[in-house]
Amino acid sequence: MSPSSHNEAILWNALFEASWDGMVVLKHDGSLYRVNQRYAEMLGYTREELESMYVWDLDTRFSRPEIETMLARVDDTGAHFETQQRRKDGRLVDVELSNNGATYEGLKLIFCIVRDITARKATEERLRRSEALLRGIASQVPGVLYQYRMAPDGSRSFPYLSEGLATQGGLSLGALSGPEVVPLMSRILPEDAGLVEAQTQHSAATMENVHVEFRFRHGDGSIRWIECRSTPQREADGCILWTGILLDITQRKRAEERVTTMAITDGLTGILNRQEFGRLLEREMARASRYASPLSLIMYDLDHFKRINDRFGHNAGDDVLKTVAGLVGECLRDTDLHGRWGGEEFMVLLPETGLAAAGKVAEKLRRAIADHRFEGPGGVTASFGVAQMVPGEDSRSLAQRVDEALYRAKALGRNRVESWGAAERG
Ligand code: GH3
Ligand code: MG
Ligand code: MG
Repeated sequence: MSPSSHNEAILWNALFEASWDGMVVLKHDGSLYRVNQRYAEMLGYTREELESMYVWDLDTRFSRPEIETMLARVDDTGAHFETQQRRKDGRLVDVELSNNGATYEGLKLIFCIVRDITARKATEERLRRSEALLRGIASQVPGVLYQYRMAPDGSRSFPYLSEGLATQGGLSLGALSGPEVVPLMSRILPEDAGLVEAQTQHSAATMENVHVEFRFRHGDGSIRWIECRSTPQREADGCILWTGILLDITQRKRAEERVTTMAITDGLTGILNRQEFGRLLEREMARASRYASPLSLIMYDLDHFKRINDRFGHNAGDDVLKTVAGLVGECLRDTDLHGRWGGEEFMVLLPETGLAAAGKVAEKLRRAIADHRFEGPGGVTASFGVAQMVPGEDSRSLAQRVDEALYRAKALGRNRVESWGAAERG
């Protein structure tokens, strides 16, 4: 051995011994030819013990024939895989092996680097379990857990969205996770999108929690009410990250809507009830005063309705009331208000309408009823009173005057329209 190759041998030996990974030189028959101290410590054997053992004495994952096949295949392109070895004390060590074959002084050898990956495996396992736990919890929460990030340049992303959305939102997670914010946000109804954005901006500026309700187009096409609650936090890079939950509150909203509807509408005809009509009458009168705009009221009452009840029964009478309310409703504009004032007395409020125009509307309504063929009674008529609000008067006074006009229509033979005017001022 030349001095330089002798020095090289010392150098390589030092490297062999200094390595933090286990190093093993194997013979092709599977016997351990040389091991370093680190490898001996890893498995709790002495180097001498190991150097009289075979790979299959240590490996727990592969059988002897499998190992022999692998050894036969190792060449200088090498092999890299994970396995498990048994220590002298019986404990198992997860290892990562890098093998390379080489011929040395006529001997075919295999050089192995053995890395102890037990700690990494344990960490991976803990991570896997905590991810499974999070998924498990998220899948049982009756909503969608999410994280939403806004970067300083305004770009948005959903770093996390729990599985619930696939069922709740009818969207696949693939379409939503990562930087793709558009598919989810575009399903918020345009009427509500502004509110959601304003709340987001407000929260970003003040770091206050977000609590907003909005309508969302579900994958099946239906519209769902979603309640969103989240908490912002500022990240080191200036991003704001919201962590929160989306809840489907459609059923609650529908129930609230039903209660609201029941409170303001008449159960039989579906039009405004007296209380709500009265409230809106006050509001419209105040508005008309403020803007000095015309406002007229029509009151109508079915003619000889008692006879209809008497001849065809109360249920048939109810059907007539429903039909009349429907016929009148079809003749009105969206801004007109229609309410049931009493048994078979109704009111129509016409904003931005003077007496003459209101009289024409009343005439149209009268004819619509008179021309209709009702099941049972056939023809039904109604009498109409019309009055225009005069500046300064209250709702009692206006209702009183329209009632007077109606009374006159009844007195003058029914099935007619009378406007409150000169006759009453008398
Ligand atoms: P007029 O032409 O003078 O108005 O005669 P009328 O028979 O309609 O007289 P009036 O307005 O005094 O009577 C109203 C009747 O309407 C009395 C009541 O039995 C009936 N009525 C009130 N509310 C309802 C209801 O909800 N359903 C039914 N079927 N009838 C009702
Ligand atoms: Mg009547
Ligand atoms: Mg009546």
